[in-house]
Amino acid sequence: MQIIKRSQCKQKPVKGTALGFGHYFTDYMFTMKYTAGQGWHDAKIEPNEPKPFDLATSIFHYAQGIFEGMKAFLQPDGSIAVFRPGENWARMNRSATRMCIPNFPEDVAEEGLETLLKLEKDWIPTDPGTALYIRPTIVATRVMLGVHASTEYLFFIILSPVGSYYAHGLEPTKLIVEDHYTRATLGGTGEAKCLGNYAASMKAGEEAEEKGFDQVLWLDANEKKYVEEVGSMNMFFVIDGEVVTPALVGSILPGITRKSCIQLLKNHGYTVSERRISIDEVLAAQKAGTLNEAFGTGTAAVISPVGLIRYRDVDYTINGGKMGPVTKFLYDTITGIQYGTLPDPYGWRKVVK
Ligand SMILES: *Cc1c(COP(=O)(O)O)cnc(C)c1O
Repeated sequence: MQIIKRSQCKQKPVKGTALGFGHYFTDYMFTMKYTAGQGWHDAKIEPNEPKPFDLATSIFHYAQGIFEGMKAFLQPDGSIAVFRPGENWARMNRSATRMCIPNFPEDVAEEGLETLLKLEKDWIPTDPGTALYIRPTIVATRVMLGVHASTEYLFFIILSPVGSYYAHGLEPTKLIVEDHYTRATLGGTGEAKCLGNYAASMKAGEEAEEKGFDQVLWLDANEKKYVEEVGSMNMFFVIDGEVVTPALVGSILPGITRKSCIQLLKNHGYTVSERRISIDEVLAAQKAGTLNEAFGTGTAAVISPVGLIRYRDVDYTINGGKMGPVTKFLYDTITGIQYGTLPDPYGWRKVVK
């Protein structure tokens, strides 16, 4: 793979810096182009520098674009590991199909990522809870107005050293149930990691933050009755020993952390149900004292305990606002596999060669 070197590298954040999420970017990026008739071509590593775009470029107007989120971790033996990247490439191509973006060769993307990671190894942060976040993206680059699928695309991967997703780290989060706005509808794009989904969620997110909440808990668009997800995390509830997560009905993003948690829980003897779960059922369990735990799962936030849910102006505290044992088991196991301090019985760690 072609590597275009830069003459001067950036200053890296010093060890111990509170990285936050998505504030720092590394020296290089992977890019490849698509042109109708020619297909995907020109895969290379180049300096991560601003690019000029014509303001009539399709992506700016119609949001025909998709992204992914992964993390790379420095292992105790000095190697680099990525958590289940094959799952992300496959999902990205499913998102591409939904958005009329031509599927890309997954082996080229993986080779590009691994070449990039080897080049940027010194950017992988090593403080506890930190990782190198990986953001593959595809945007429509044809310069033309008119609502049609583009004939040109840019695929890129940028990297960002990150700390915890929430400012308060592993402290349980506070969610507010949204029963006015909706995130996704059946037949819509909720299943795809496409750009517009996140723009559509920001209004509710801002209103939640103004009220002192971390995130919105979305309900189904039709009846505003069933729990869907959090918008960057899938949701799990532990009710009377049963671990419940909303079934993937079409409007929920099929999380890879979600899938991994289900497999781990089942293999450790837990009863896991993927089914419809109404907000009334969750809150009735809280009142009855059988809602043992609630948590969200996602690459950015890993496993995030939920300490409080507000619904129609009533606050419901979960597990005394503390992290519960199932949440802790999953957090310890997933991060142990990611950071290489636990064995990897499922082959989830992809070591960069
Ligand atoms: C990315 C994302 C998730 C989490 O998916 P992971 O594969 O676990 O990172 C959940 N919900 C939404 C809406 C997302 O965009």
